[in-house]
Amino acid sequence: MSVRTRYAPSPTGHLHIGGARTALWSYLYAKQLGGQFILRIEDTDLERNVPGAAEEFFNGLRWLGIEWDEGEDVGGPYGPYRCTERLPIYHNYIQQLLNEGKAYRCYCTVEELATDREELDKGAVLGYSGRCRHLTEEERLAFEVQGRSHTIRFRVPAGETIAFHDLVRGIVSFETDGNDFVIVKSNGMPTYNFQVVIDDYLMAITHATRGEEHLSNTPRQIMIYQAFGWEPPQFGHLNLILNEDGKKLSKRDESIIQFISQYRDMGYLPEAILNFLALLGWSPGGEEEILSKEELIQKFSFDRVNKSGSIFDQNKLTWMNSYYIKQADLQRLVQLCIPHLQKAGLIGDNFNREWITRLVGIYQEKITHAGELPEMCRHFFTDEAQWDAEAAEILNEPQVTEVVSAFISATQNSPEWSVEEIKTLLKLVQKETGHKGRALFMTVRAAATGQVHGPDLNESLYLLGRHKVLARLHQIMEVKQARTSN
Ligand code: GLU
Repeated sequence: MSVRTRYAPSPTGHLHIGGARTALWSYLYAKQLGGQFILRIEDTDLERNVPGAAEEFFNGLRWLGIEWDEGEDVGGPYGPYRCTERLPIYHNYIQQLLNEGKAYRCYCTVEELATDREELDKGAVLGYSGRCRHLTEEERLAFEVQGRSHTIRFRVPAGETIAFHDLVRGIVSFETDGNDFVIVKSNGMPTYNFQVVIDDYLMAITHATRGEEHLSNTPRQIMIYQAFGWEPPQFGHLNLILNEDGKKLSKRDESIIQFISQYRDMGYLPEAILNFLALLGWSPGGEEEILSKEELIQKFSFDRVNKSGSIFDQNKLTWMNSYYIKQADLQRLVQLCIPHLQKAGLIGDNFNREWITRLVGIYQEKITHAGELPEMCRHFFTDEAQWDAEAAEILNEPQVTEVVSAFISATQNSPEWSVEEIKTLLKLVQKETGHKGRALFMTVRAAATGQVHGPDLNESLYLLGRHKVLARLHQIMEVKQARTSN
């Protein structure tokens, strides 16, 4: 039998790092075994659906490089792949359970349920009293005549053991509690625990993997499988993602960037996020941390997924993204950076592509993500120089007047402006003034760029252009002269 895994998000918000990791592991596993990966949108909880969320899932997963074999937008033999389009299918199976007495209609009002609960256990456990469990046909009809709405509950035995083998946790077992749970809500919509069983079964899913928060749902789902006489899939419950304090990550936690779209908008590379997420709670053994999608497909196994939570290490992600940026093809990096430069107002629709390419090239080793570039290279775009505190300090040093004026004259006397020529000019200044090393290079860098750190000096001066460099050096000289004449 071919392996079929799935990712089944509810379209209730943005694609989260946890969801993306669930999708990724399921995808890797299916691809390793030559199977299929299915994307299903579980949208029967109507109040929680967010318009456009499913499309954001599609875009985010595709951006990461996670491709599905079957799904709403690619089709497939087991569709529809959006649950609200499968309502007639669920209806048939609900009818079967009603006919067989394995489920029943419950007419309890909200008030009745609340009173029962209080009596049962002072509201501590969300139990069901069983008030409608044995209604006669007359009682049922009487409720119908009163116009009461109903839910449908699944009959749960008490004190039975439900055990299963979890791909991550090994054998897990639960005692059933006799708490008949709702499988169809009063609005006629099946609940998740029912819908997921029908869908996983009909879509021939062999491995149902999902977040740890679903572990307690699994015995309920297994009971439904048993009611139909179906074999459940293999379940796998994936560990929690924790923040840097080791606490469960809440969606409001701002210490960590949590949504895939945010990383995309900040100019991260998808393969870095993919690599990072794969290793978030799983390791192939060994020291190797940089793994391509193909290597991940080859190496992934649920056996090596941690049972305990995994701390989200933002620094490691930054490091990994820098690594991939350094490896990236320059033209691709340029494409990634252009929108950021435009958004920062540094370039418009028309720009000198060759110049931008060289600029991005000298920053390739420096940036951790594309969104960082505009602030780092703003001084290439402004006419007026702005010297930061460190640069200002350097420019107070005694060699500055001599070095700067020598560089000005050398530049003015030079017929051309190229990286080679700039090297020659700097050598000339060194010869003339006797200043070298830091006193020479740091002075020129601070004077021309306004910063003491930055990419290659010769390239930077070249890209700034002779005009800007001279203007800034003159500005320094004017300040110096004004000071001495005062
Ligand atoms: N729709 C569920 C969720 O978004 C998926 C649970 C499952 O994979 O079974 O949490």
